[in-house]
Amino acid sequence: MDDNVELTPRDREYLRGIFVLKGNREPVGPSKLAHILDVSKVAVLEKMRRLEAMGYGDYVHRRGLLLNEKGTEVVQKDIQRHHIMERYFQDNFGMESTEACRESSAMDPFISENFMRNISTSLGRELSCECGCCIDDHYDPEDLYDCHWFKRQFKV
Ligand SMILES: [Zn+2]
Ligand SMILES: [Zn+2]
Repeated sequence: MDDNVELTPRDREYLRGIFVLKGNREPVGPSKLAHILDVSKVAVLEKMRRLEAMGYGDYVHRRGLLLNEKGTEVVQKDIQRHHIMERYFQDNFGMESTEACRESSAMDPFISENFMRNISTSLGRELSCECGCCIDDHYDPEDLYDCHWFKRQFKV
């Protein structure tokens, strides 16, 4: 595994797709993921191999990719980051939720942990989001079925 290889926004999207299909508990097959992402099975298989090689999960023969703790953590953090940024844009720039969501989606893969901490601190304890389930640091895949961000990205 090469620690210098960074996850791309696309890699992160695949990790989220695997998570929402409960890939933190059991392996997710390439066909299932291909369906919700609307891409080919070949593309998914290739990406799953890449994610495994990068240390985010284990590919179980004939069954699919099972996320490990590191893979799950990336997803949890990405969810939190998206919702916090969105809230920040709404509160500070008076953006509508759709616009804030679009802005947040465009930049959230590139925001550092440090910057995130500063934003969380400045927002304080009154964080809340439209989906009602999102400003927490642990989710179950089922919590995300009603999340606007997941609905936008995947055909679940
Ligand atoms: Zn959003
Ligand atoms: Zn949400």
